[in-house]
Amino acid sequence: MLLDGKLVADKILENLKNEVAKLEKKPGLAVILANENPSSKIYVSSKEKRALELGFKSSIFKFDRNVKQGELIELIHELNDNPNIHGILIQMPLFKHLDANELIELIDPKKDVDGFHSINVGRLCSGLKPYAICCTPLGIIKMLDYYKIDITSKHALVIGRSNIVGKPMAQLLLQRNATVTIAHSKTKDLKSLARSADIIVSATGQPDMVTADMVKKGAVIIDVGIIKYDGKHLCGEVDFDKVKNIASAITPVPGGVGPMTIAMLMQNTYDLFKEAQNAKL
Ligand code: NAP
Repeated sequence: MLLDGKLVADKILENLKNEVAKLEKKPGLAVILANENPSSKIYVSSKEKRALELGFKSSIFKFDRNVKQGELIELIHELNDNPNIHGILIQMPLFKHLDANELIELIDPKKDVDGFHSINVGRLCSGLKPYAICCTPLGIIKMLDYYKIDITSKHALVIGRSNIVGKPMAQLLLQRNATVTIAHSKTKDLKSLARSADIIVSATGQPDMVTADMVKKGAVIIDVGIIKYDGKHLCGEVDFDKVKNIASAITPVPGGVGPMTIAMLMQNTYDLFKEAQNAKL
């Protein structure tokens, strides 16, 4: 089974568009872009395009390499106080001289659309409802649910332990009663761990991370990686052509996890907006 993230994401976005059309006041998303990485610029403009298509208000704050930490701190305070902004996103990575962690911690957790603030991470880990959950792992869970893939009691292997994918992914799988293993660059004998996994989520950014000899028959394979080749084409980190013959379900790249990440960003913006409206009542 091909896990078609674009199809699932389109359904979520269609539903959101219908909901937003009924609203008088619109959800507002603010994106801070402080680097000159071409990929980041593309990500930011595609997020803006999606937000506008849904009828959200979208504001992008772009900075050149002379930007000072203090300017971004001031901006975040302003956005926190702005009642028309419901989600604040800092596009990563930032210019090297900036301190991303300090900035994330200054975002109002109720506007932390990426779910990166320590309050939201802490709430996720302690079983309390976060204001928002990291978009990529949340999108993966939604996709598994859409395709009715059972998670309970399954051995899930998450390869990668980043704050934006690996760690929150492991937490979400644990919440859904999977038995979770987290692997990273210092893990020994990844192959034998992988061969015992019913679900593999690979998020390392390394090409050919998951090969056919690592996959148990019938396993579910989620490829988070985005790797550029030929200067413009994208592929994942799973050997898709060979692994698809062994797996029971697999995500393509592109068209798998990526579209779900953007859909979750929009869903989170909408949910934070709704929470803010309810809080006013
Ligand atoms: P990251 O912060 O660089 O983390 C990579 C993780 O992979 C680290 O924990 C690292 O281990 C681990 N790793 C690296 N080489 C390994 C190896 N040979 N064996 C086992 N583990 C290894 O990356 P990220 O931000 O999580 O992103 C991972 C990939 O997902 C990238 O390709 C990124 O572009 C993509 N991504 C896609 C989406 C989407 O929407 N599709 C969203 C976010 C990210 P250590 O901790 O030991 O260094």
